[in-house]
Amino acid sequence: MKTDIDVTESVFKQIDNSWEREVQFLQKLCQFPSTLGNEASIQQFIADFLENEVGLSVTKVIPNPEKLSSHPGYSKPEWSYDERPVVIGEYHAEGKKKGKSVIFQGHIDVVSPEPVSFWEHHPWGAEIVGNKLYGRGTADMKSGVAAMIYALKAIQDAGIKLSSDVIIKTVTEEECTGNGALAAIEEGFKADAVLIPEPVLGQRALIAQVGVIWVRIKVKGLGAHTERADKAVNSIIESYKMINALLDFECELNRKNKNKAFANHPHPYNINIGKIHSGDWPSTVPSECTVEARVGFPPGVKPEDIKNELKAYLLAASEKDDWLRRNPPEIEFYGFHAEGFSIDPNQALFDVLNEAHTYVVKKPLEFGSFTATTDARFYNLYYDIPATCYGPTGEGLHAPNEWVDLDSVKTVTKTYAAFLLKWCGYSDYMIKKDKN
Ligand SMILES: [Zn+2]
Repeated sequence: MKTDIDVTESVFKQIDNSWEREVQFLQKLCQFPSTLGNEASIQQFIADFLENEVGLSVTKVIPNPEKLSSHPGYSKPEWSYDERPVVIGEYHAEGKKKGKSVIFQGHIDVVSPEPVSFWEHHPWGAEIVGNKLYGRGTADMKSGVAAMIYALKAIQDAGIKLSSDVIIKTVTEEECTGNGALAAIEEGFKADAVLIPEPVLGQRALIAQVGVIWVRIKVKGLGAHTERADKAVNSIIESYKMINALLDFECELNRKNKNKAFANHPHPYNINIGKIHSGDWPSTVPSECTVEARVGFPPGVKPEDIKNELKAYLLAASEKDDWLRRNPPEIEFYGFHAEGFSIDPNQALFDVLNEAHTYVVKKPLEFGSFTATTDARFYNLYYDIPATCYGPTGEGLHAPNEWVDLDSVKTVTKTYAAFLLKWCGYSDYMIKKDKN
C-alpha cells in the first residue's frame, strides 16, 4: 500500500524529471519585457499554458477602476487597464471535497531594467550561468510563478487527484498599485488560504509587511535666463527643501513608531526619492521641479492617515521658507495606497507550510517581516483569508544584474507540491490503480 511519503516522492520524481522543462518555461517567462503596460503577451502565453498543459479552466479579468474605487485597498492609477488582464486558472476537484482550497498567486509585472548598460547579462536574455538565471524579473518574481505552476502540474502529471480546489493567479500591477490582485478577488476568486512565491524572504514565511504610499511634490521656481539667475528662483534648489523634509519625516517615523512586528529592525520605514524631474536647458533657470517618493509606514496605520500627516508635515516645512511659504508646493498621491499588516503564525496555513518545508529542506520553517509591500495584504486585511509569501532566493531585485538561484526554485516547487498534497488532500486514485 502506498503511503503519504510514497505519493509525495512520486510527485518529487515528477518535478525532477520535468526540471529542464520548468527551467525552459521560466526562461520563456523572463524573456517577456513585461513592464507596466506590456503585460498582454506574457499573460496570453500563461493563459494558454494553464489551459493546454495544466488542464485548468482559465478566466481573464480586466481591472475596472470604477468598480474598485470605493474599496479601501484600491490605489489610484494614472494609466489605462486596456489589454492588461489578470489571468486565473482553476483546478476543480472532482467528487466530494475533503481538504482545503488554496490560491497560488504571482505577479508578472516587472520594474524597468534601466540603465541597461549597467547589466552584465541582458535583462531579457534569461541567461544561465552555473545555477543562476539572470534577468529582470527572474527573482521578482517569475521564478515563483514557474514554481507554483509546476508544483500543480507535477501533481497532475503524477496522476494524483487533489481533493480540493486550487486557483492559480498571475496578476498585474503588483509593483505600483495591487489593483490586479484586488480585481481578481473582487470577481470572486477566493480560497481558504493564499501562497505568494515572492522572493523577498526566500524560504521563510512572511508574517508582516509595512504600508506603502507614493507621493508627488511639485515645487515652483521663478524661471529666467541665467544672466539674471541671481534674481530668479531655481526650482531644483527649492526642491532640496522638500527632499530634506521627506528625510526628516523618515527619521521621525522610524524613531517614534516601534511596531512589534518590526521591533528588531533598525530602519523598517524607508522613504525613497525615486524620481526627480526638472529643467531642460543648462542656461535656463527651471520653473518647476517634480519629486516623487515612496513612503513606507507601520502596520496598523491607515494609508489615508499617513497621507494627511505627511502632507501637513511638508506644508509646515514649507512655511519656514520665504519662497515656499508664498509658493506652497503642490502635494498629491497616486499609485500605492497600501496598508501594512501582521498575522499570527500560529495557524493551519503556517503549520502545513512548515510541514512541507521541513520535509524538503530538513529544517523548521522560519518567519520574517518585510519592509516593503506585497499583494498578500488584500487577503489578510480585507477578506480574512490568511496569505503569506514563501519563494525562491535571488538578488538584484529592482537593480541591475538580477538573478535567481535555480536550486531554490526547485526547492520551492517541491515545497509547494508537498503543501498542496497536505492542504488539499488527494484521492486514492493512484493507489487503486497500482493495486489492479
Ligand atoms: Zn515582487
